[in-house]
Amino acid sequence: MIWQGGPLSLDTLTRHWTAGAGALRVALDALEAQGLITRTGTLYGPEGDEHAARQAYAHHSGVRACTHCGCSDLWACPDGCWWTGETQCSSCVDAPLPALSAAGLAGTP
Ligand SMILES: [Zn+2]
Ligand SMILES: [Zn+2]
Repeated sequence: MIWQGGPLSLDTLTRHWTAGAGALRVALDALEAQGLITRTGTLYGPEGDEHAARQAYAHHSGVRACTHCGCSDLWACPDGCWWTGETQCSSCVDAPLPALSAAGLAGTP
């Protein structure tokens, strides 16, 4: 949600986060370490590749997400999408994006 409405404050993020405040801080730290978000004061803003960030977000929050592009109910594809399978969204039916590996998420800036 940082990408859709950011920069956002921690308070705002907490309201949208469903996995608990502790997990949110862990996730934000991890995303920042991966260069996927940037923090200015108390505001968190987007940084880097949205595709990678979506997958990282889904990983950290534990929400249902597309295994191909990493989109979720809270963070759909840029053009919008819907579920076509348990772990596949409509955007990925015809042209699935390559799934990023864990190594890719931890890649160099
Ligand atoms: Zn997808
Ligand atoms: Zn999608």
